Amino acid sequence: MPTDCLFREDSYLKNCEARVVGITDQGGIVLDRTIFYATSGGQPGDTGALTTASGTRIPIATAVYTDQAKTEIAHVPAPGSPPVSAGEVVTAEIDWDKRYARMRMHTALHLLSAVLAYPVTGGSVGESESRLDFDIPEAGLDKDDITARISAMIAAHAAVTSRWISDAELEENPGLVKTMSVKPPTGTGRVRLIEVANLDLQPCGGTHVRSTSEVGLVHVIQIEKKGKQNRRVRLAFA
Ligand SMILES: [Zn+2]
Repeated sequence: MPTDCLFREDSYLKNCEARVVGITDQGGIVLDRTIFYATSGGQPGDTGALTTASGTRIPIATAVYTDQAKTEIAHVPAPGSPPVSAGEVVTAEIDWDKRYARMRMHTALHLLSAVLAYPVTGGSVGESESRLDFDIPEAGLDKDDITARISAMIAAHAAVTSRWISDAELEENPGLVKTMSVKPPTGTGRVRLIEVANLDLQPCGGTHVRSTSEVGLVHVIQIEKKGKQNRRVRLAFA
């Protein structure tokens, strides 16, 4: 059963009421709606807790998709957690400090990908450190230069917005694809676009802050050679 992913429309939601609609074979708790981001795109699933109407607290270690199409989310309880049954109403709550740090970091990675306009081959979002891997033919990247350019984007207070676009709309606007830093996937009917005003446009399912100013101070701490054409760029909060 598809989960209503509230975090996609409002990444600032810290809690919500939901109903348990099922338990997976692995013991994952499926809710009708959730504010838990599920592991994907290099961003880990949220941690937090579910609290039942009778006050039983179930710590959640992570959240994962149960299907390839990423329509259903299972909340993975910490080992030894008390059981919960289908039909129960719970309050879901995420560890907000951790999630907000990831939102800031994830948004910073969009800026990094705008500074380095090369194909991205991998990435990872953490609370204090993150990285993107780029397919870059030559070396010569300068840490301080990249940091300065990201800092300028953060200082620009650029708005970060999301919108859904249908495959048909995408086809009618080839210019849109041209301005995107990442080619959107097609075939699912619609794609979610994230725009950092005047700086970056790409399809993305992650969680972001509303303005680049919320990212805060970040700097490039390392540029690592990963194979002949790969450079791993690490960002950290200052
Ligand atoms: Zn994103």
